[in-house]
Amino acid sequence: MAVTISQREPGRRRISILGSTGSVGCSTIDLIRRGNGAYEIEALTAHSNVAKLVEQATEFRPALAVIGDETLYEPLKAGLAGTGIEVAAGPVAIVEAASRPADWIMAAIVGAAGLEPTLAAVRQGAIVGLANKESLVCAGDLVTAEIAKSGATLLPVDSEHSAIFQVFDFDRLDGIEKIILTASGGPFRTMDLKDMEAVTPEQAVAHPNWSMGAKISVDSATMMNKGLEVIEAHHLFPVDMDRIEIIVHPQSIVHSMVSYVDGSVLAHLGSPDMRTPIAYALSWPARMAAPVKPLDLAEIGELTFQKPEPARFPALRLAREALAMGGSAPTVLNAANEVAVAGFLAGASGFLDICRIVERTMEIMGGAPLRSLDDVRAVDQEARRLAHELMNARRQRG
Ligand code: NAD
Ligand code: MG
Repeated sequence: MAVTISQREPGRRRISILGSTGSVGCSTIDLIRRGNGAYEIEALTAHSNVAKLVEQATEFRPALAVIGDETLYEPLKAGLAGTGIEVAAGPVAIVEAASRPADWIMAAIVGAAGLEPTLAAVRQGAIVGLANKESLVCAGDLVTAEIAKSGATLLPVDSEHSAIFQVFDFDRLDGIEKIILTASGGPFRTMDLKDMEAVTPEQAVAHPNWSMGAKISVDSATMMNKGLEVIEAHHLFPVDMDRIEIIVHPQSIVHSMVSYVDGSVLAHLGSPDMRTPIAYALSWPARMAAPVKPLDLAEIGELTFQKPEPARFPALRLAREALAMGGSAPTVLNAANEVAVAGFLAGASGFLDICRIVERTMEIMGGAPLRSLDDVRAVDQEARRLAHELMNARRQRG
């Protein structure tokens, strides 16, 4: 991973937030608000939450505000009338917003929809805080090739990867034995498989430790999130899949670890609050104060760890299979998962069907070489079409 910082003039940092109205976007906004004018905002983007985008733009006066859903252009324009803020709508406008020169860009769109904006941010050579793990999952080699070309700096925002980044000795790779990703295990960590069949979206999004967007909350409940994070780690750190381990740690205090050949294990700890990894990415290589609950280990008392259970959480196996298969297989895994999770959230599919649909889509599509962004788009679309078909067929069978 590129860890060089381009030389930019000191003073106010010009930043853009892609997905500013989401959970990570709002936490980023919260830190910026506390930055006492240290940041100037170039662009804010959202998908459909016009009210929130108008509120944020009115407060922070970005040069540009973009709404992804084109039908919401007029309400956005009306909401920001008289402010002098440029407004635009549609996916192309979001990519353009990501291309606007900025020093630092937060990639916090959810899903593969974040890929092209993330690539645009990377191509301009900016420092990119990456929350949008799906872009690395569905097109990791493309993203890293673009980083190598543009000299962009990619800083992980996902808490586990931020943790690893902070304790990973990039200069002495032969000293590293493995990476250990911690996983909370989600809300169904101890539930019987037969009871998992009937869980509702409300139960699935109620994460025990973290407050997050709906999609990643469901991913945490199936543990697909941890599977996606293995693939993400594989692209961010020079460590092959066999040396990326997962351990369940229900308290979410140890955010991940790096194990060294001499037996040392370096861990990163903190309260489960995304503002810590976001602050690290925002101020890197310095550190800024973040308004998080101080970690009180005596109050927490116990930190526990256990092996993951692939039998109840097949997503862990599926993600490793996709990575081993290579090429387009992770793109298929990601696209099918997005469709199945959306179907589950909409009441059109059962919880355990999510992984069944992903597995079947992977079986049918396999893995082909991915040479270009067009290849990624084509595979992503075909996997979505197939996953929808499989989901509808399951529903009709009842
Ligand atoms: P969220 O659903 O709360 O917010 C998503 C944001 O993306 C919103 O601003 C939304 O308007 C925008 N968006 C959604 N669909 C879009 C589309 N098609 N086109 C353009 N914009 C779109 O999600 P989140 O929980 O903030 O997660 C964002 C990303 O960060 C995800 O990739 C997630 O895996 C990752 N992440 C989140 C957390 C967390 O604590 N929430 C932690 C680690 C990683
Ligand atoms: Mg994470």
